[in-house]
Amino acid sequence: MSNAPLEKIIIVGGGTAGWMAAASMAKLLRPGTCEILLVESEDIGTVGVGEATIPQILLFNKLLDIDEDDFIKKTQGTFKLGIEFVDWGALNSSYFHAFGSVGKDMSGVQFYHYWLKMRAQGKAAGIDDYTLSSQACLQKKFMRPIEAGNSPLSNVAYAYHFDAGLYAAYLREYAQSRGVTRMEGKVVDTHLRHNGFIQSVQLESGAVYEADFFIDCSGFRGLLIEQALNTGYDDWSHWLPCDRAVAVGCESVAEPWPYTRSTAQKAGWQWRIPLQHRTGNGYVYASKFISDDEARQTLLDNLDGAPVGEPKLLKFVTGKRKKFWNKNCLALGLASGFMEPLESTSIHLVQAGLAKFMSFFPNKNCDESDVDEYNRQTTFDYERIRDFLILHYCVTDRDDSEFWNYCRNMTIPDSLTQKIDQFKANGRVFRHNGEMFNDLSWFEVMYGQGITPKGYHALVDNMPEEELHKRLEGIKSVIRRSVDHMPTHQEFINQHCRA
Ligand code: FAD
Repeated sequence: MSNAPLEKIIIVGGGTAGWMAAASMAKLLRPGTCEILLVESEDIGTVGVGEATIPQILLFNKLLDIDEDDFIKKTQGTFKLGIEFVDWGALNSSYFHAFGSVGKDMSGVQFYHYWLKMRAQGKAAGIDDYTLSSQACLQKKFMRPIEAGNSPLSNVAYAYHFDAGLYAAYLREYAQSRGVTRMEGKVVDTHLRHNGFIQSVQLESGAVYEADFFIDCSGFRGLLIEQALNTGYDDWSHWLPCDRAVAVGCESVAEPWPYTRSTAQKAGWQWRIPLQHRTGNGYVYASKFISDDEARQTLLDNLDGAPVGEPKLLKFVTGKRKKFWNKNCLALGLASGFMEPLESTSIHLVQAGLAKFMSFFPNKNCDESDVDEYNRQTTFDYERIRDFLILHYCVTDRDDSEFWNYCRNMTIPDSLTQKIDQFKANGRVFRHNGEMFNDLSWFEVMYGQGITPKGYHALVDNMPEEELHKRLEGIKSVIRRSVDHMPTHQEFINQHCRA
């Protein structure tokens, strides 16, 4: 097999994943070295949901040199400081999984350990009072970080909400203006070489296109990775039993909030994502515990404004391909696997897959050891996110439906049991090997779902209580003053990026 550089890559699929792949390769590959062809079918269309992101997307935009104001305008976007989880740990409870820091670490110990001690004695307010992003969410405020020395405002962490269709269109324009060729057509067949590598794809028109490497962004059907290469799938539905979603936009009735809201329902949960021109909504549910009709009705009964268009039903199996990269085919997006959008991780996984692919960028022979390492690292990313999602379901007091009874009692992965047990003991939680969610995210969700650790970091007791009380009050007051200084989210959009 030739070890020459890749001369042609075909991307099958023009949803978010396909155009993210095309745009980043158009930017990173030297012009004229490798031809990129993207094939998509307008008849088949895209999933067209996927409107919330996490802060890592800023790195993707930076890589592409995207002007943020222009991007927000053209995608009807808004800013996101975190997610509010309503009714998850118990009915009538809520908490924020907010981006960025929580309080201010002291003497090398995370702030939340000090807070746990004082809170247990009734001497501290709720954690939101010490968290800039949560306070800004509560007051519907937003601004980008400013250069302000020690101020929490120098550290605002944010992501975006946007219209997924407009996002794909934005990236399409970007990629096409940098040399990517787009082909309209339906792939109906795939031809393999004697070594099992993909040689070409055939379109309905009869035209056949060869390439050295193929990126499967064809969505749930996994046209190349599964239908041509029979890669296999790990099914995780026993841990994450939701297998359907019904989604619909509605008219906005209020200023857009700078956060996503996730409300637990009888057999799943409902998202609310504010955009400039509408609000995105969807009910993610387990079909074993609720009918499609009831889920659809629950969604419609819980909208802020009048629905825009008909609710769209989507079916999925939570899990991942046994290999994300198989022979000369890389799967990205829904073709690579799916985990529900509870923590807005799908678009990030496309980005992470692309970043890794660029660091393992192959020659024509696709060295097996590189492919194995890519698959090992990506499996780790998926499994750690999977655990984080399961956490939201298994740590709950809800016993008001069959669905929640199942989730509360299901067996969970050992890796997650270990994290929960360690947190329960003395509030410690560690980010393993650069996993996606950091210790603060784990803390916010574990505590928010209802786990109060028995103890806290032993070094906390080194600080005299009077001093600790003074510091907590100081931090609370700095957070309050910082949020007072921020414009409302709507004012910020009006000023910088009104669509
Ligand atoms: P698709 O959008 O399905 O695109 C597939 C492409 O392949 C299309 O262009 C189609 O035309 C083409 N295609 C398919 N078959 C053929 C063929 N035979 N010939 C030619 N072309 C073909 N992610 C987030 O990050 N945040 C969220 O909030 C979020 N919410 C979600 C909510 C739901 C209910 C679902 C299901 C997903 C959500 N996601 C979210 C995930 C996100 O939507 C996807 O990761 C993202 O849109 C990528 O989709 P895709 O490009 O892989 O697939």
